[in-house]
Amino acid sequence: MQITETKIKFVSNRGDKLKAFCSITIDREFVIRDIKIIENSKGQFVAMPSRKLMDKCAHCGGKNHLRAAFCNDCGKQLQANRVELDEAGRPKLHADIAHPINAACREKLQHFIIEEYEKELARSKQPGYISHAASDADFDDYDGRPGLGNRRTPERPEQAPPIQ
Ligand SMILES: [Zn+2]
Repeated sequence: MQITETKIKFVSNRGDKLKAFCSITIDREFVIRDIKIIENSKGQFVAMPSRKLMDKCAHCGGKNHLRAAFCNDCGKQLQANRVELDEAGRPKLHADIAHPINAACREKLQHFIIEEYEKELARSKQPGYISHAASDADFDDYDGRPGLGNRRTPERPEQAPPIQ
């Protein structure tokens, strides 16, 4: 597997652990977007694109985010604490959309992406820098994955009950 193109888009929010989004092209014919580059006290690492896990309302079958306190469709109160925990005891709220299936590939990807990020970071400090990220359309908005210090979407139930 060859990564033939990398696009890095920096996140301007200072103090945030999320530093950049990255999209990669594999073998000139397959693109993976919304890879996140995160920096914390242990260093830099790469998070694969993920989606929010949902479950079904017991009353109407409507789909809701696991942290939702009330059903999106029928407005009934949902059971609290229905989130499973992962091996490290953290709530499992997201699932990877695309990810390596062995440690060697994960290492290779992470090493490559962080190297590209460092290069782009160095370039960005030069005068007249133009971002390689062609457009913002290549990147989704950050969805406030817990634990990454996002300030726009603090942890709270997703919505209030509808007004009857
Ligand atoms: Zn419902």
